[in-house]
Amino acid sequence: MSAYEELDATALAESIVRGERTAEETTADALRVIDERNDELFAFVSVDREGALARARALDERRAAGEAPGPLHGVPVALKANMCLAGAEVSCASKILAGYRPPYTATFVQRLIDAGAVPVGMTNMDEFAMGSSSENSAFGVTRNPWDVTRTPGGSSSGSAVAVASGMVPIALGSDTGGSVRQPAAMCGIVGYKPTYGRVSRYGLVAFGSSLDQVSPFARSTRDACRVMEVISGPDELDSTCVDAPPVAAGAGTGALAGLRVGVPPEYFPDDLDADVRACVEAAIEAMRAKGAEIVPVSLPHTDVAIPTYYVVATAEASSNLARYDGVRYGPRAEGDGTLQGMFAATRDAGFGDEVKRRILLGTYVLSSGYHEAWYGRALRVRRLLADEFDVAFQEVDVVACPTAPTAAFSLGEKSADPVAMYLSDTMTVPASLAGLPACSVPCGFVGARDAQLPVGLQVIGRPLADELVLAVARAFEAATDHRRRPPRSAGGAA
Ligand code: GLN
Repeated sequence: MSAYEELDATALAESIVRGERTAEETTADALRVIDERNDELFAFVSVDREGALARARALDERRAAGEAPGPLHGVPVALKANMCLAGAEVSCASKILAGYRPPYTATFVQRLIDAGAVPVGMTNMDEFAMGSSSENSAFGVTRNPWDVTRTPGGSSSGSAVAVASGMVPIALGSDTGGSVRQPAAMCGIVGYKPTYGRVSRYGLVAFGSSLDQVSPFARSTRDACRVMEVISGPDELDSTCVDAPPVAAGAGTGALAGLRVGVPPEYFPDDLDADVRACVEAAIEAMRAKGAEIVPVSLPHTDVAIPTYYVVATAEASSNLARYDGVRYGPRAEGDGTLQGMFAATRDAGFGDEVKRRILLGTYVLSSGYHEAWYGRALRVRRLLADEFDVAFQEVDVVACPTAPTAAFSLGEKSADPVAMYLSDTMTVPASLAGLPACSVPCGFVGARDAQLPVGLQVIGRPLADELVLAVARAFEAATDHRRRPPRSAGGAA
């Protein structure tokens, strides 16, 4: 492990500002680690070596000329391949967008750049963010640095691995139903999904617009807070962005003493992996030992969250993905020469199986005659799930539960069974449907001594309680030391 890999983003920015290293050296360090590990792990689909070094040099020059540094001064950052950066290839890991280079930059990416961060490349993902394992990427699988035969989780697989393997200290993913929290748990890092609307979606390629949230990965909650401070806050380019101030970076100095933590039995079903259960129960015990009051709460409709999500998210996806027709973006297939034939041939060649499955499902649940029975009913269940959380939050400050029902599973294990794959999001989807802030923080390991895999504790809060959720995650992190171990393939102990 080099000094670069040991520092978190906050410490790196501070050391650059103190003049102990330059932004250019720091970027070169990131590129070196990417060179060493990307062939094996495939976190990045593209790396902008020259652009990143030029940006870092410009930061060093502006600093030398006396310009005040931003909170992420010189910090290398990875972006998921569904995030717009003018001129970069934004493929969403789909053949249908191969070669697409947006002419504009997302609000959250611009805010990162304005804060001094240096985007180094775009990361692999499940196609259009649909998946939980990286296996739906059109470009290949990303591997878990804890065990390269296993998935890193998904869909923000590459961003999670880029952080977990020491390539970059921070990265952005998008979380629609768990795509940041679940891979964060499986890679042993922090993943934070904000309250819906806390971060502008302008420049994030849409999947399920009422669910999608740009969400940071980091090796510490301190860094997750810092990224949130930079990227959150109102944006006139996204009308669903809430009118709340940016998340305060100081969030997360809270204590556990006196806190009321709700534990819902529905998140500990009989088929929950026994080791994961033991690990999360021990984490909750650790919160109690630090003075939190543990209170049972009931969230009785948790079991219908997955079917509800797969109606709402597919409905929105079928509409959002209608724009990929061979006219406006990406490659075109000619088909039989008619306009309809060109659309069909382009979409048939361009989309992978899972994306097609979801477009079909979403089109069906919105179709005339079935709309009310499926989509309308799903919206009512969604309301019910949010109301249940509201009731729970009258009793408790936060809810604590597992992030995922298992640790990282083997590549190939679920890829032939979409429903088994969907069920790996059972514990993240409810907070997404309810629009709630939720953080996955490392809480321990399972498995044999020489093959341990990380587990995540999920902390969920009421709408706009982003600061509290981060504070609780940070207090838990401070009381434990799970995040300090680097994964085996990133120079960690076996
Ligand atoms: N795994 C879930 C899905 O496939 C969630 C994806 C996401 O959050 N982008 O839809």
